[in-house]
Amino acid sequence: MLQLLNIAYSYDQKMLLENLNFNLTRQEVVCLLGESGSGKSTLLRIVAGLEKPLQGEVLWNGRNLANVPPNERNFGLMFQDYSLFPHLNVYDNIAFGLKMKKVAKSEIDTAVTQALEQIGMKAFAFRKVTELSGGEQQRVALARALAPKPHLLMLDEPLGALDHSLRVELLQELKEVLGKNGTPAIYVTHDHNEALTIGDRIAILHNGQILQNDSPEKIYNQPNSVWIARFMGMNNILSGKAVSETEVKLELASEEKTIVFEPKYPLTPGQTVHVLFRNGTIGELCEGDVCLPARVDASFFKGNSYDIRLKVNPTSMFTLQHPNQLTVGEIKTLCYQKTDLVLLFL
Ligand code: ADP
Ligand code: MG
Repeated sequence: MLQLLNIAYSYDQKMLLENLNFNLTRQEVVCLLGESGSGKSTLLRIVAGLEKPLQGEVLWNGRNLANVPPNERNFGLMFQDYSLFPHLNVYDNIAFGLKMKKVAKSEIDTAVTQALEQIGMKAFAFRKVTELSGGEQQRVALARALAPKPHLLMLDEPLGALDHSLRVELLQELKEVLGKNGTPAIYVTHDHNEALTIGDRIAILHNGQILQNDSPEKIYNQPNSVWIARFMGMNNILSGKAVSETEVKLELASEEKTIVFEPKYPLTPGQTVHVLFRNGTIGELCEGDVCLPARVDASFFKGNSYDIRLKVNPTSMFTLQHPNQLTVGEIKTLCYQKTDLVLLFL
């Protein structure tokens, strides 16, 4: 469907996107995840035809869109500030794009009714949009984007302006509506939790390129760099040195530990690698394949558990969940299964 080939873009001589490649090949929701300022909105604007890339091509079903103006691409856009028309009611807001396209009245009526059904707001058709809650306005914006049956829907941080509890609820709803509707979509966010929930696939944008493009499970279980692991909220990482083709030596507080891995490719002795520790438990004795001594540094209340921060060596802190608060200064044992450890090379 959508193919981005070697896209480059700059503002004021500063490169923002460079050699960027990206494909959307199925009816799926791809989440474009990246820090604020990484160029996500710019990339959507390039796909929409609102910006011209400095280099590269945007293809739809193999056709180069360079000379196809935005209104002929049939791509839908939905923004954070959903910009509904305040003087129009719900029905007319949803019908707006279709009227602009001079679609027949009966056809508009069918499309609007269908869109209202999809978002569960049939009863609100003749309500003023100014009388709706933020969440309801967001749904209407979604219906408005879906009504013209776009080939591709692009959503730019659509929930960014809403408060947390509403965001969680609307995100689930959005996922269901998009899933049932079947329109391929690119969903932009800077929030990794949102990305894990909404995306059939996550494409991570950093330094002008897509660094990893995988299922949420794959990204979570096998991030391909330290940067991605940290960006996804996984901060329990130690740097080490390969001492043979399969062994990595880690510096701990008062000892060195050598861990044997089964890497895909043999390690080069002397090579620096990083080890991501996922999951893990805090205990007294070693109950696992790999155990690390650690000193309790702080506890943070999280409702149904505590986040315990522990010092693993002079320069590295880990944070693990624990049912109880722990005393600062206590020495504990962090226990991991072999499958909890992920080797990162970058
Ligand atoms: P994101 O959506 O990921 O937050 P944007 O695509 O909006 O990122 O912007 C990426 C970078 O480009 C930002 O640093 C921003 O300041 C800059 N930028 C965006 N629009 C313009 C513009 N019209 N002129 C100059 N710089 C811009
Ligand atoms: Mg943006």
